[in-house]
Amino acid sequence: MYLGIDLGGTRIKISLFAADFTQVAMLTTPTESEKGSQRVMGNLIGSIQQLLSQAQVDAEDLAAAGVGVPGLMDIERGISLFSPNFAQWQDVPIARLIADALGGVPVFIDNDVRVNLFGEWYFGAGRQLKDLVLLTIGTGLGAGVVMEGRVLYGATGSAGEIGHLNMYRRGRPCACGSSGCLGRYVSGRGLIVTAREKIAVTAPGLLQEWLAQGKELTPALLSEAYDKGDRVARETFEETGELLGYGLSSVINLYNPQRIIVGGGVAAAGERLLGPARRIISQHSLEISRRACDLVTAQLGSEAGMIGAAYYASQKLAGTPDYRQS
Ligand SMILES: [Zn+2]
Repeated sequence: MYLGIDLGGTRIKISLFAADFTQVAMLTTPTESEKGSQRVMGNLIGSIQQLLSQAQVDAEDLAAAGVGVPGLMDIERGISLFSPNFAQWQDVPIARLIADALGGVPVFIDNDVRVNLFGEWYFGAGRQLKDLVLLTIGTGLGAGVVMEGRVLYGATGSAGEIGHLNMYRRGRPCACGSSGCLGRYVSGRGLIVTAREKIAVTAPGLLQEWLAQGKELTPALLSEAYDKGDRVARETFEETGELLGYGLSSVINLYNPQRIIVGGGVAAAGERLLGPARRIISQHSLEISRRACDLVTAQLGSEAGMIGAAYYASQKLAGTPDYRQS
């Protein structure tokens, strides 16, 4: 059996999988990321023990555990170096802490987006493909790349950071130290900033009316306003979708993928966002590459991280050096 763990800033999600990756049990618990690493790891390990006892499974029946973690990490040593949304969080030896609590079970960590990629690749929208790209558009923009049947890591584990493609010479400042990065625009946060900029210079419409009534400006509210023909919402999705299209044109030209999968909460906007992106891609990517590539939404939703982490752990355990798909 395998454990697949999705360590998010708000929630910790843990699933127990049988050897064939059917889900046996699942548990969700608040992360309490504002309370520091000791509390978070206590919550995580306590939940694993609770899940195992509910499912009446002994730790020694576990073959391995995989954990998806946001932020920077030392994958080989299993240490989370830094995570932007976690307080008092530095050099946390996640793999060792979990392994110690489970009597030495092998534990492997990787980036949260990459474990999502493993999930969609083996069990979701990317099945049987050798060349694919996953974008997760949530609060921010994450990405992972599979080329020729191999997940790309690069020299420092940061290959395929499509969210930091430079789209403007002098654009919105980014936490990475640069500015004008794609993720500052194509993300939940980016959509809101763009909508606010437009509200400031547009005659009052439905969206402004809703905001005046106290509704919160969210990507979902923008979708609702878009469907009712609101001008700010239409322009916001149009511009954001076009920018996504320019970014993906470069991605198609660089990686020549068979499929680009778009997941994350903002993917619920669907064609409102992907429609303009498709139009730009048809005008700005290399024709032969474009014809070989489709753009689809993810299939597994928020489950991808857990099953992907479990599968990743099984691959690491088997020593598959490059995770090649059989
Ligand atoms: Zn950046």
